[in-house]
Amino acid sequence: MTDTLYDVLIIGGGPAGLTAGLYTSRAKLKSLLVERMILGGQVMTTTKVENYPGFPGGIDGPELMMRFQEHCQEFGLETLSGEVAGLRDLGTVKEVTVDGQRFRARSVIVTTGAEPRKLGIPNEAAFTGRGVSYCATCDGAFFRNVPVAIAGGGDTAAEEALFLSRFASKVYLVHRRDRLRATKVLQDRILAHEKIETVWNSVISEVVGDQSGVTGLVLADPEGGNRRTLEVTGLFVAIGVVPKAHFLAGILDLDAEGYILTDAECRTSIPGVFAAGDVRKKILKQIATAVGDGAIAAIVAEKYLDELG
Ligand code: NAP
Repeated sequence: MTDTLYDVLIIGGGPAGLTAGLYTSRAKLKSLLVERMILGGQVMTTTKVENYPGFPGGIDGPELMMRFQEHCQEFGLETLSGEVAGLRDLGTVKEVTVDGQRFRARSVIVTTGAEPRKLGIPNEAAFTGRGVSYCATCDGAFFRNVPVAIAGGGDTAAEEALFLSRFASKVYLVHRRDRLRATKVLQDRILAHEKIETVWNSVISEVVGDQSGVTGLVLADPEGGNRRTLEVTGLFVAIGVVPKAHFLAGILDLDAEGYILTDAECRTSIPGVFAAGDVRKKILKQIATAVGDGAIAAIVAEKYLDELG
C-alpha cells in the first residue's frame, strides 16, 4: 500500500482522462492518472481528426494528444504506467490496485474507453498480426500494392478505408447491409473513390491463409448462403468497439453491453466514483464528448470532495 492519499485517481489516459486530469490538477487536487498503454488512448491510432473544434484543416491524432499531455504537465498532473485490476469502495476512501500495488484515493474517475470489437470468426485470432488488424493507421503501410478488405460500415470503417487506399492496390469495404452508417461526408468520399469497392449485404464468415499470412476471406450473405472467396492479403476489422469495464463487473452498475451506467453528471452507482468518455453509456462517442465528460466528472468530483470536507 502506498502512503499517499490522493484526492482523485483517474483510470485511463485518453481524451476524457487527460481532460479530467487537467481540471483536477489545475484545481490543485492531488491527482494521479494511471494508464496501462500509452497516454492519448484510441486517438493515438487516428490519422486526421477533422471534427475537433479549433483545428481548421484537421490535426493528426497523436499530435492532438501530445498537446493534451503537455497541457496536463503544465499543471503538474502525476501519471503512472500500469494496469488497474481492481477497485474497492471503503466508504470515503477508495482503493485501486495497479499491477498488484494498492493506491488510495478519496475519489476515482474511470475513463478506460473502449477497444475494437472482434468478428469472432474462424482464423481471425490465428491471423491477427499476420494479415488481420484492428488499426489501419498502425498497420496500413504494410499493405502496399496489395488488395485488402475492411469490415464495417461506420465512421471508423469509412475513415480506415480512405486511409488504406493510400497504400493498397484495392480496398473492398465489406458491409452486412446495403447502406453505410458513416456520416454523409465520409460516405460521399467512399462512394466516389476509384480504389474502394463496396461489397454490400455480405458478412465475412472465415479468414483463409497459409504460412505467408492471409490469402483470402470467405464471404456469405447475412443469412449464410452464396458463399464465395474474396482474394485479399489483409483484413481490417472496424465494426465498433466494446467498453473496457470488465474489471468493474460486480463493483459498478454496467448495462448489458458492459458500459458503465452513470447519471448526466458522470456519477456511477458508487458515491465518489465517476465515469467519463467512451466507457460510459451515452449517445455519442467523439473526442469532443469525451472532453466534455472529463470536465464534468472532474468538477462533480471536486464538488463531492468539498462536501466530504
Ligand atoms: P459504429 O458506428 O458502431 O459502426 C459499426 C459498424 O460495424 C456498423 O456499420 C455495423 O453494422 C457494423 N458491425 C457491427 N457488428 C458487426 C458484425 N458482427 N459483423 C459485421 N458488421 C458489424 O462504430 P465505429 O465506426 O467504430 O464508430 C464508433 C463511434 O465513434 C461512432 O459514434 C462514430 O460516429 C464515432 N467515430 C467518429 C469519427 C469521426 O467523427 N471522424 C471517426 C471514428 C468513429 P450496421 O450498420 O449494420 O449496424
